[in-house]
Parts: sequence; C-alpha cells; structure tokens
Amino acid sequence: MIIDSHVHISYLKKKKSFFQIKDDLLLNMRQNKIDYSIVIPDNISNSQCADLQVVMDLIKNKSNLYMIGTIRIAQINKINLLEIEKLFQLKIIRGFKIFPGHDPIYPTDKRWHPVYKLCIKYDFPLIIHTGINVGNRKCARYNNPKHIIKIAKKYPKLKIIIAHYFWPKLDYCFSITNGFNNIYFDTSGLADPEVVKISGGIKKIKGILIKTIKRRAESVLFGTDWPMCNVKKHINLVNSLDITKEEKNKIFYKNSRHLFRLK
Ligand SMILES: [Zn+2]
Repeated sequence: MIIDSHVHISYLKKKKSFFQIKDDLLLNMRQNKIDYSIVIPDNISNSQCADLQVVMDLIKNKSNLYMIGTIRIAQINKINLLEIEKLFQLKIIRGFKIFPGHDPIYPTDKRWHPVYKLCIKYDFPLIIHTGINVGNRKCARYNNPKHIIKIAKKYPKLKIIIAHYFWPKLDYCFSITNGFNNIYFDTSGLADPEVVKISGGIKKIKGILIKTIKRRAESVLFGTDWPMCNVKKHINLVNSLDITKEEKNKIFYKNSRHLFRLK
C-alpha cells in the first residue's frame, strides 16, 4: 500500500480547472498505485491552487482522498477557530498546515497556539512548510527548525511534520531535531532534481533519509508535493534506500496511516 501524504490540487503552467486537476490526480494515483492521497489546500483563495473550501467540495465523495486544514494567521478569531474545531471533530480535516516562508510569520507566533491546541485535542498533526524557495533563500529564516523545536518542546503532545526537510540544509535539520519524538518528516520534494542538486546530490538525500529512519523508523512519511514534483521519482527514491522491507512499509503507508488516523 502507498499513501501520498502531501499533494496539492494546483496547476503549474497551463491553466486548468480544479475539477480537471482532481481527475488528473486520481489518474496519476492509479498509474503509480497510490491508494490514498492527502490534499493540502492553499491558505489563500486563488486560481492556481485550490483552497480549503474548494478542496472540501472536490473530495467530498472520494474515499481515497483526505485533506488537511489551513488558514492565514490574520484570519484566526473565535468564529474561525470554532469552524476548524468542527472540521476536526467531523474528521473532514486530518491535520493543519502552516506556511512560514510563504508567509512572513514564525511558527512560534502566539496567534497560532490555539490552533496547535486543537491539533492536540483531536490528535491530528501539524504540518510545517520548510526550506528555501528557489530565488528567495531568505524566506527560510521563518521556517528554520530552530523555531520548530521550540513548539515541539512547549507542546510534547503535538505531532509536527516537517515538510521538505528544510532543504538544502538537511544535515542541520537532522541534528537539531535529534531527540524529539514528536517531530516527523515527509519526503515531499526530496526527489525533485532542483532540490537534489541544491541540497548536495542524491547520495546526500538518501543518506539523510536512511539516518532519519534508523534514528526513529516512525518519523518518515512518504509525500511527493504533486503536481509540483514527480510521484514516480519519489517512489523510486524510497525504493532505492538500503533499509528493511518493514522500514519501507512504514514510510510508504504505516506511519501516515497512524499519524492521520486513517482506517
Ligand atoms: Zn507542498
């Protein structure tokens, strides 16, 4: 079984309807034998990447698609927190994503704390976007794992998934997260040729993933960042790792099934 824990309903160059992209996603899943995908909405309404409401409507009757919640920090208020809580209660969202670096906001910003408490209350993970954007390396200061470990320390029951392994600084991200049993990593983007090149090559990527799995086999989840990244390349990356069959099963589906509490 394979669960892709990190996809978006978005288009790259050629404009497409979100409905069409959802069909592309389902086709791509069939082609790559992906059993379930977890869709991450954008935190702002726009025509390029589906937001929370759009994703909710699109995946309503799809038993192989799940979704994550998100909101911009400026929208956090009593009413919206109640709305998020309701979505958690109904298991319509199975986690929450924040985008430090896309937004000039630190994960330690106090305004996020009520959301973190909801994640803990309903036992769903917090996903944090990390790493550089090509053409804007400075944005990574907002998602530096040195801030993330502060949250992990303050909320030991909060399960935190670091997306994109704070690329290109993989070694630093590995070291600084040592000892945190509530920090997880998805593989999204790590097979992307540009990410591989800037992060020090495929040997470096594989080495870090193996070290992370050997440190705690529960901490790595398969994710691709489709359609930005190629699904097959990510499957091949995990398959190429010199780890046990059971460790591969954990990456491909067991860890995300557990974290997102899928059946
Ligand atoms: Zn993504």
